[in-house]
Amino acid sequence: MDMRTEQGRPVRLEDYRPPDWLVESVELDVSLDPTATRVRAALTLRPNGNGAAPAPLMLDGEALTLRALKLDGAALPPEQFVATPDQLTIAQPPQRRFRLEIETVVDPSANTQLLGLYRSGAIYCTQCEAEGFRRITYFPDRPDVMAVYTTRIEAEKADAPVLLANGNLVASGDVPGTMRHFAVWHDPFPKPSYLFALVGGKLACVEDRFRTMSGREVTLRIYVEPGKEPRCAYAMDSLKRAMRWDETAFGREYDLDIFMIVAVSDFNMGAMENKGLNVFNDKYVLASPETATDTDFERIEAIIAHEYFHNWTGNRITCRDWFQLCLKEGLTVFRDQEFSADQRSRAVERISDVRGLRSHQFIEDAGPLAHPVRPTVYREINNFYTATVYEKGAEVVRMLTHLLGPENFLKGMNLYFARHDGDAATIEQFVQCFADVSGADLTQFMLWYSQAGTPEVVATGRYDARAKTYRLDLAQSVPATPGQPSKEPMVVPLAVGLVGRDGRDLPLKLGAGRAIEHGVLILTEPADTFVFADVGEPPVLSLNRGFSAPIKLGANLCADDLRFLAAHDADPFNRWQALQTLATRLLVDNTAAMRANGAARQDPGLLAALGAVLADGTLEPAFVALALTLPGEADIAREIARDVDPDAVFAARRGLQAAVGEHLAEPLLDHYRRLSESGPYEPDAVSAGRRTLRNTCLDLLAATQRADAILLAARQYQAANNMTDRMAALSTLSLCDVPERAAALDDFYARYADDALIVDKWLTLQATIPEPATLDRVKALTKHPAFSFANPNRVRALIHAFALANQKEFNRADGAGYDFIVDTVLALDPKNPQVAARLLSALKSWRVLEPGRRARAEAALRRVAAAPSLSPDVSDIAQRALAKD
Ligand SMILES: [Zn+2]
Repeated sequence: MDMRTEQGRPVRLEDYRPPDWLVESVELDVSLDPTATRVRAALTLRPNGNGAAPAPLMLDGEALTLRALKLDGAALPPEQFVATPDQLTIAQPPQRRFRLEIETVVDPSANTQLLGLYRSGAIYCTQCEAEGFRRITYFPDRPDVMAVYTTRIEAEKADAPVLLANGNLVASGDVPGTMRHFAVWHDPFPKPSYLFALVGGKLACVEDRFRTMSGREVTLRIYVEPGKEPRCAYAMDSLKRAMRWDETAFGREYDLDIFMIVAVSDFNMGAMENKGLNVFNDKYVLASPETATDTDFERIEAIIAHEYFHNWTGNRITCRDWFQLCLKEGLTVFRDQEFSADQRSRAVERISDVRGLRSHQFIEDAGPLAHPVRPTVYREINNFYTATVYEKGAEVVRMLTHLLGPENFLKGMNLYFARHDGDAATIEQFVQCFADVSGADLTQFMLWYSQAGTPEVVATGRYDARAKTYRLDLAQSVPATPGQPSKEPMVVPLAVGLVGRDGRDLPLKLGAGRAIEHGVLILTEPADTFVFADVGEPPVLSLNRGFSAPIKLGANLCADDLRFLAAHDADPFNRWQALQTLATRLLVDNTAAMRANGAARQDPGLLAALGAVLADGTLEPAFVALALTLPGEADIAREIARDVDPDAVFAARRGLQAAVGEHLAEPLLDHYRRLSESGPYEPDAVSAGRRTLRNTCLDLLAATQRADAILLAARQYQAANNMTDRMAALSTLSLCDVPERAAALDDFYARYADDALIVDKWLTLQATIPEPATLDRVKALTKHPAFSFANPNRVRALIHAFALANQKEFNRADGAGYDFIVDTVLALDPKNPQVAARLLSALKSWRVLEPGRRARAEAALRRVAAAPSLSPDVSDIAQRALAKD
């Protein structure tokens, strides 16, 4: 990768050195004040290692003002240290254990980056991952420095009646003679500074209890804005289920007396796993049938679980350095996906996860921002909280289950927990545990962590009736990515089935003395041939079942084979995949036809296959809904891969939706009616599945733009007794330029104007309408009283939604979409660089566009790159997006 930059030196994995100084304990005394919060930090430091050359002490800071400095109780003379806003250096510290007392003052109200100590409304809160702690006090702010924290917080009682920090509460009371009070929290588990958290404010709380598997009682508390307590029930229920699941699935028990979640409305991310005190974006805590959709409920369940699971994978065992981010994130995403699969439907969860992977990570992997699951260089770590680190990182862990089998996988996890508890670990140490329990050589497997790009596997199968063999030729390649022009072959676990005429799997037996374990072929060479013996009839190949490897697969399956698999494959993932492949082939063809002003081709076989899935009463409704959902515009564009015209992609997809709605009108309407429910809303997976299918039917019917279908949507909007059905109807209507749409949008705002999280849905819907007026509408909405550039949720709901979920209008041929995004990035950057950089990364696929749009997107990116005083976050994205390799 070309790392020539004006500012910010790149950090490289190869330069890692253990810290010169360790911190045994941190005593913090934080006196909260809106503009001048005083932080006293007493660190007990000791040299790391065996008394080699005396090392200076260099502590990280960012925008800090030092007020006082004492060493072992005595003020340090000014000539013995240098304090800048970004660093505190003591050139000749004593080469022994000593105590350093540092007093700094920070202004939480002026902190618009939302990193460090800041205010969300009137609430004080912190966000320290990745490098936010250095904005609170000077500290060796790196994850391999793990210390025991004791935190005293003091504040005006009236301003902040609730004072929280990590660990267990050990003391609290009034400060005599003042209107102030204090609380002291102690966390006995050594932790890196990024897991520190502190909260103060007027918060209401919902409390519950949990008895762990060894019989310990844990208090559970969720803190929210007063009045929002009734909306915490689902989050609390999810938390208890997650705690139980981690005990049964991985033998992991919670370790403190109390577990707390605080919901705040200004938050850069989804949530943060601070030890014992998770801080959440309120969007992922608050839910009621009237305010949240099924998707919201599902997300809440998954994110509550994800952050809770970090207590072991992330907190008890943390990362040695930020290059190892996937060690905690990939593994924890894998664990939360498994949790959701067990709570809901394994097949539906898997399909949903793969859809997400393909439409985010595969696209990232194919563009200029591609990077390995474990990067080796970064300029701004905030830019590596990516789909590659999270979602592909989870797939890499999942592959271990296919390569080694579920039992060895669990043994490896147990060894990892036992061997590394309390460590700041590396990917090598993690993978070594699996090698040790299984005896497998995982050297080649490590390439999944170091090679970027989505591997492509081509499969060609041939049946020999005389020899009764099925010969499968496999060839793999990994495309070039920035900084990695040529690649080594990967180890690719491919779950396989040979499906017989009656739809049942034929027995798998490899010839030539080769064995097949757990139904998985393991491809390790650039090309290999597997010959199955004793195959009594010509089978249909079902490969990469359950998406056992995160690859792009090309197989010589004809339309008849795909329709057969769609109807019969024992693997539900590949049933779904067969329909997607059929639809993708048609949509790619039709996109080309649209560009040539030709007429779209119809595929009666695909329509019949979709009809058959709809008619199959044995399938779960949530699966049928996924089967009826066509590949997204981004997926089609990814398949086309060059000279993409987003208007043509949109037209092809919308045309096929209308064809499905037309062709299956009767059964769709029949399902729509049959699936209607009159009882109270229940958020469980089965009920949610029925609603999803019903709303998918409605959407396909309305794609025809027929008046009766639009009437149906308008009626559903009015009659809905829950947010899922109301939003689904409104979303369907929003795609049709009819008077009902404006009326419903106005009505929606009037109903929910005082609920910011619901107004976000209203903003998103309007940003994603695929019509030319949308850009002006989005611009106008930035002036709406409900909108604020200071709140990341509002910005994401309106502007990120426009850039990421409205391919057609963001990629307007006149470039006005790019210009708007770039203007917004430049305006946001000085205030919140993280959110600005995320937004700019919406341009990551610019190179695949047709020449006109490509030139406009490039010009927009160049305008950012040339702007003065960019944050490292935004400048890094702009430079990488434009880099030539
Ligand atoms: Zn995480």
